Amino acid sequence: MKLHLASGNAHKVAEFQALVAASGLPVEIVSARAVGGMPPVDEDAGTFVGNARKKARALLARLGPGPAWALSDDSGLCVDELGGAPGVESAYYAGPEGDAVANLRKLVAVLRDVPAGRRTARFVCVLVLVGTDGSEAVFEGRCEGTLRMAPAGGAGFGYDPLFVPQGHSESFAEMPEARKNLLSHRALAWQGLAAHLQTKLGPSTAS
Ligand code: IMP
Repeated sequence: MKLHLASGNAHKVAEFQALVAASGLPVEIVSARAVGGMPPVDEDAGTFVGNARKKARALLARLGPGPAWALSDDSGLCVDELGGAPGVESAYYAGPEGDAVANLRKLVAVLRDVPAGRRTARFVCVLVLVGTDGSEAVFEGRCEGTLRMAPAGGAGFGYDPLFVPQGHSESFAEMPEARKNLLSHRALAWQGLAAHLQTKLGPSTAS
């Protein structure tokens, strides 16, 4: 089964490919590039699920005729001290150009005077799977953690160098990809989707 991923983010594609490989499901994650790229979408729904739905449907319109599925991921970092910001605006926190380095720098600056005990945050990921058969399924994953004063580590992407998941001392960017993929919001949302796909594909596909 092919799942076309409604994202132009190469890091997300790589994380999904690793999650699928670890699950053993007969599923192939196909980048939107394979079907001409991700169509432009205004991520203005105001919610993770609303934005994810818009992206999945935009890509689905490029697929078919015949059975096809588009999978989208809308995700972001919600910081308690900032009332949940940057949240759905995570990709564009420092401006419309979506510069990940500038976003990280801005968050470090905004939180400069916030003490360790008040630096709680969570990554949220909503996955929406839509099919040309009219089906839609939604899955959510949350990963609780705290934010460092300064970025640390070179792996991952986005806000990973600042985010330390609960129960760990390393940031996501200091961990091997395989460890992030056991803990992350995307991994937790994927678990729900994987169970759904398993029932769709039949019991013999269990890993
Ligand atoms: P989206 O592509 O519109 O869903 O935006 C997601 C944004 O949230 C990314 O550009 C990052 O800023 C942030 N983000 C989501 N997931 C992660 C993650 O796993 N690590 C670091 N940043 C993330």
